[in-house]
Amino acid sequence: METYDVIVAGAGFGGLTCASLLASQGYRVILCEASGELGGSAGGFQREGYQFAAGATVGMGFEPGGYFNRLYGTLGLESPNLHSLERIMQIAMPEQTVDYWRNRKRWHAECERQFPGEARQIADFYDEVEAAGELLRYMTERRPFFPPAGLREWASLVPHLNPRMLRWAPLLTQTVGDRLRKYGLSEHSPFGTFLNGQLMDSVQTTASRCPALLGLIALTVFHQGAFAIQGGLPAVAEALAETFTAAGGEIRYRTPIRSIERQSEGWQAVTKRGEQLTAKQLVLNTSMHSLGDLLGEHVPSRLHKLVEAERQRAAWSAFTLYIGLQPDSDMCKLFGPSDAETWTPFRQVIGASGLPLSEGNQFLVSWLDAGPGSPGPTLTLSTHTVPEPWWDRTGYEQRKLAYQDKMLALLYERYPAVREHCSVVLPGTPVTFHRYLGRRQGRVGGYIPQGARSLFDAFNSRLGPDGLWMVGDTVFPGAGTLGASLSGWMAAERIAGKRFGYYSR
Ligand SMILES: Cc1cc2nc3c(=O)[nH]c(=O)nc-3n(C[C@H](O)[C@H](O)[C@H](O)COP(=O)(O)OP(=O)(O)OC[C@H]3O[C@@H](n4cnc5c(N)ncnc54)[C@H](O)[C@@H]3O)c2cc1C
Repeated sequence: METYDVIVAGAGFGGLTCASLLASQGYRVILCEASGELGGSAGGFQREGYQFAAGATVGMGFEPGGYFNRLYGTLGLESPNLHSLERIMQIAMPEQTVDYWRNRKRWHAECERQFPGEARQIADFYDEVEAAGELLRYMTERRPFFPPAGLREWASLVPHLNPRMLRWAPLLTQTVGDRLRKYGLSEHSPFGTFLNGQLMDSVQTTASRCPALLGLIALTVFHQGAFAIQGGLPAVAEALAETFTAAGGEIRYRTPIRSIERQSEGWQAVTKRGEQLTAKQLVLNTSMHSLGDLLGEHVPSRLHKLVEAERQRAAWSAFTLYIGLQPDSDMCKLFGPSDAETWTPFRQVIGASGLPLSEGNQFLVSWLDAGPGSPGPTLTLSTHTVPEPWWDRTGYEQRKLAYQDKMLALLYERYPAVREHCSVVLPGTPVTFHRYLGRRQGRVGGYIPQGARSLFDAFNSRLGPDGLWMVGDTVFPGAGTLGASLSGWMAAERIAGKRFGYYSR
């Protein structure tokens, strides 16, 4: 039996962040990763010589003072090689193609062109989005432990309260839909379709169900900075892993944790090969979805409720298409003219208006120029899908083919030049995400917010008072690489009992 200060299960963004911060503080940390890759949903993989992005592609928070910029600074890492995107992405909607600009003036000019009747109201709404930048800074600087569980955690929030934050309090009981109505905007308009597409992409739901503060923060993130990272987000995962091992941390690949159990001195984790590891602190980056499976029959009574609550929560899975392109297929040929200033590797395709923005009717297309080792660049297409039907094995192959055909048809309709350049097309389903990332039933991207107050329903990363933690996109602050990583930072600070890095008062 081997004993550590901290065991971290899973090398996704949450696990890697927590592990590298704790190792940098002198903790003896072991990081067990089930697969042979780093980064989980934001990792990569190779097939047929091509290098693909498994899921996440859009980099956020790398601007000066942004979340990842702070994390890199705290860990003493050099900034990754990245391209700051003036044009965040292009959105191919049913009737129009919208360029989403980071710069406020340029974005307002685009709104005047695209949504002429509503441009003034949209500008007012985006003033509020921009103001929410202070909420984002508050979250990334202060890292409040939320939602508070018990009196001590409520009390711990008090020193963080800032009178300026009080202006946002009324929005705690509103949705983004409520905010749109305040500005005389509707979800059922071309602008509403655009906005819902952005919200689906970042917070997994549309305006009428999205808590206002969550939605505004998600929308402001892009306007603070959107980035294409050389080598994709896996390059960030590799940098975190390097700093972890340089600080004395130990990574074991292909080492899934199969069960966990509370012991008198802390926690025991048992690997697939039957190895027993013990530590005072156990950090799971395996998602809330599989907490019940890991605890098996040993569910301590106070965790029962949590496991039961988890089973009631809805989450999406993803259907993905991984496309290997011919070597000479550059971005400009496929997606129309762009220059260094307006270049963006990201496109969002929205099929028919009035239909749900999921199941292939809305998807993100991300370009990865994988470098000299890959036969050519690659595309990753991803759409939200309900996980359950994919587990009916009888219809599985037809369903997979139907989704592939639907998405390719829409992609070729909006970007005809892509058709001639495809060399390889590989589908990924919820079954794939279950198998390769250990995400139960293939659930990815965190929970689907269910209304104004659903922020308070978020799971807190402290699972019990006794050294069991969850980090990643199924606990506060939720989805995306930024949210998942931030949860890892928050847990590391709670474990160490102190703050790391820059912290402004
Ligand atoms: C298709 C798709 C597109 C996305 N696009 C974006 C985007 O553009 N930008 C963005 O910021 N976010 C995006 N996201 C969301 C983002 O990728 C995730 O929210 C985030 O990466 C999740 O990180 P995590 O810490 O929860 O860990 P995960 O990514 O879930 O990784 C968990 C890791 O734990 C390992 N593991 C699981 N079980 C065990 C076990 N029992 N023992 C040991 N190891 C285990 C897994 O192998 C995996 O490596 C996207 C997600 C998907 C699915």
